[in-house]
Amino acid sequence: MSLRIYNVLSRQKEEFVPLTPGRVNIYVCGPTVYDYSHIGHAKTYVSFDVVVRYLRFLGFDVLYVQNITDVGHMLDTGEDRILKKARQTSALPMQVVETYARAYFDDMDALGVRRPDISPRASGHIPEQIAMIEQLIKDEHAYVNNGSVYFSVASFPEYGKLSGRIVEDLEDGARVAVREDKRHPADFALWKKAEPEHILRWPSPWGDGFPGWHIECSAMSAKYLGETFDIHGGGIDNIFPHNECEIAQSEAAHGATFARYWMLTGSLTLDGVKMSKSLGNTMTIKDALGQWRAEAIRYFILSSQYSNPIDFSDEAVEAAHKGWQRIWGAVSLTREQLRRAAPGEPSAEATAMLAAIREQFIERMDDDFNAPGALAVLQELTRQVNTLINEGGPQTGGTLSAIDALFRELGGDVL
Ligand code: ZN
Repeated sequence: MSLRIYNVLSRQKEEFVPLTPGRVNIYVCGPTVYDYSHIGHAKTYVSFDVVVRYLRFLGFDVLYVQNITDVGHMLDTGEDRILKKARQTSALPMQVVETYARAYFDDMDALGVRRPDISPRASGHIPEQIAMIEQLIKDEHAYVNNGSVYFSVASFPEYGKLSGRIVEDLEDGARVAVREDKRHPADFALWKKAEPEHILRWPSPWGDGFPGWHIECSAMSAKYLGETFDIHGGGIDNIFPHNECEIAQSEAAHGATFARYWMLTGSLTLDGVKMSKSLGNTMTIKDALGQWRAEAIRYFILSSQYSNPIDFSDEAVEAAHKGWQRIWGAVSLTREQLRRAAPGEPSAEATAMLAAIREQFIERMDDDFNAPGALAVLQELTRQVNTLINEGGPQTGGTLSAIDALFRELGGDVL
């Protein structure tokens, strides 16, 4: 068996073959840092944490890049999320960005999510974004109008290949929102002219302005991972327009495949309802961590396949907590016994059992990172360990150490 990944682009499970043997370059769309992260973000980033941990467990040399969006992610009203928050709190935009970027990393640390190798910020990569836009204009994939630059969707026939949307549909849907300076309603902004009061602004060949949201991911992934890289991840909510636009910009500018495998996490509802600030039903990661152990939240998230939608409720997290406690009980029992065990080699019986468990775990995870299946294997390990210790009498130090090591490896390092 080898690792297989469900590729959203081809809509099927494919054998994972990295571009360079032994090496995986992965990019995951990161947060827009204008507020505290919610439990939907926790699902996405815990899921990719496990993806990256498992790839490393398999021996791959992984380079994990996840951006921080600190400019250009606009609300439907046309306001920049960060500028709006800055106005509301009488803070400087970069104060807002620092506050919530730090809070994001604090939350991720608390959830046991290992930090990406590089967390590039959009505002720190303006020259790279401008260079990419210039290339797109030169190749007639983009045009300038009144100080803004737009990507011409008609110039890239494959637009829609990830999300399955077709441009004619977009035309109907977008007609109400047609902007005067776009040639086609589906065209999207690469660079926006800054109005006089807009203080997040940079000089550019087209006048003072700021980058559109999508271009940062194309420019920064190319810079750190290359024009073509192995895996692109994110939440399903961003498949359109964000991910679709990333593909169009990158493939049009470079004339090369962008990401080879697309992995998207399913959405998260709270008590059966989509989280929405206007409805007042949101839960931040900080709120969740105030109520439950991080291990219970992680266990809850990993109890469903990453690509599936999940519903967050007290009962579901409670059940996950019980699942974690059962495993933790066996880990504690093993360690307690280990402290007073007589030295000795691991028994043949235990060695065979542990090898079989490890093999099953790999089999599950090789199947598109099947974490719920892997958790079930850890529960089976728990059952076997309890039986061995409770019914098999005192175990040797070697046996107990081997059990402890497997819990650490599969539970601690991977999940
Ligand atoms: Zn992105």
